[in-house]
Amino acid sequence: MASGEAKLRLYNTLTREKADFVPLDPGNVRMYVCGPTVYDYAHIGNARPVIVFDVLFRLLRHLYGASHVTYVRNITDVDDKINARAARDFPELPLNEAIRKVTEKTAAQFLADAKALGCLDPTVQPRATEHIAEMIAMTQTLIRKGNAYSAEGHVLFDVKSFRHGGELEYGKLAHRSLDDMLAGARVEVAPYKRDPMDFVLWKPSSPEEPGWESPWGRGRPGWHLECSAMSEKHLGEVFDIHGGGIDLAFPHHENELAQSRCAHGTPMMAQVWMHNGFLQVEGQKMSKSLGNFVTISELLNTDKFGGRKWPGEVLRLAMLMTHYREPIDFSVEKLEVATKVLDGWYRLVGDGKASETSDYGSRVLNELRDDLNTPEALTSLHVSADFARDPDDDNGPARFKFAANVLGLLEMTASQWFQGGRDDVVEIATLVTARLAALNAKDFATADRIRAELLEQGIQLMDSKNAAGERVTTWEVKR
Ligand code: AMP
Ligand code: ZN
Repeated sequence: MASGEAKLRLYNTLTREKADFVPLDPGNVRMYVCGPTVYDYAHIGNARPVIVFDVLFRLLRHLYGASHVTYVRNITDVDDKINARAARDFPELPLNEAIRKVTEKTAAQFLADAKALGCLDPTVQPRATEHIAEMIAMTQTLIRKGNAYSAEGHVLFDVKSFRHGGELEYGKLAHRSLDDMLAGARVEVAPYKRDPMDFVLWKPSSPEEPGWESPWGRGRPGWHLECSAMSEKHLGEVFDIHGGGIDLAFPHHENELAQSRCAHGTPMMAQVWMHNGFLQVEGQKMSKSLGNFVTISELLNTDKFGGRKWPGEVLRLAMLMTHYREPIDFSVEKLEVATKVLDGWYRLVGDGKASETSDYGSRVLNELRDDLNTPEALTSLHVSADFARDPDDDNGPARFKFAANVLGLLEMTASQWFQGGRDDVVEIATLVTARLAALNAKDFATADRIRAELLEQGIQLMDSKNAAGERVTTWEVKR
């Protein structure tokens, strides 16, 4: 970061304070975000960390340079929920084959969803199944250091062994004592555990379950271990930012932190722990039984929510209207507001390119520097839009587009936006040209038939005249 510029301040769940962010190595700022467990379509709540940390990734790239930021978001493709889904959906297949079907399809869908939400690809997207050797090695290190023990084919992490200067370290991220944690957690009680809070690093697999050979027999890793191994491999023993939804703070992140610090003998795993607040739908917790459960794919491709499809950019803007640490109430009304805003902004920028930098963009960046304050960043965009609409504001639309791009907004052209990302634009253009020819030949019956045919496909035509007085027709997707 150039000296003299405003600092980046981030709220840290570990210290419960906002503080200046100082990267361990400004030449390589490193962030790890827990990704999806790929057994089912991602829901709109899962979209929140994907979008929030994409905004942070973009901000870090602006501050430190695009080639000086490494963003790792994993794909959890070993998990008992996956095994259960595979057995249910593909009972005729051997389990391992069924699992591959479920994880490949779900991971591909997740990547498509993230793209539709306007997110950049993370630098690395490691899969748990590709890091089993690292997980076994870390487990061996933990046993050797006295932080883990094997019992009945399982290997468990000994939470009481995680101490610093005699003081218990386990629970410092959750800000809870062992007793509080035990009261609040659904822990598996097992006779081979030394302490009920001890958690699994490795567990045995039956012959039909997925499993890998290990010093403790054929088995599979626990979920927490997967992230500790993948973050070490791709970011090192200690890195800058670790993120995820607030539900992951305990036990998942507490356990990752315990494993990594004990294995590496380091005073920290990540400098800053960041957690997004939860999303609910129309004022209620999202759940299948309440019938308000909605996937990203359903919002993009079906009429299930509010009776229409929603572009990914609308979902993104709606999400950014709330600060990432606040709970968010996702609603049709919010999506309608976001749609109107984007219509107005796309009308302003038209099909022109963004400028290379801009004063409007600097304002957005300044708001984001304050713990990713996206609501304030959007307020500044609204103010900038008013200025940029003034024809005397030199290059206003291009400078405005740059500013919106900082948030990953307005990345397409106005034509693409109003054409709703349709993949049949060539066919539509051909029909529009044919209709114009019919109109010029005074064949009004044909012209009307084409207009009606297009309307039937959700295409609205708009006729006007150009400066030379010739008839021109543009089109939009009917909303
Ligand atoms: P999971 O696949 O359940 O591990 O969730 C993937 C990510 O989505 C994690 O970072 C979760 O914290 C996050 N997440 C899950 N549900 C919600 C929700 N309703 N609101 C916000 N974030 C969520
Ligand atoms: Zn994780």
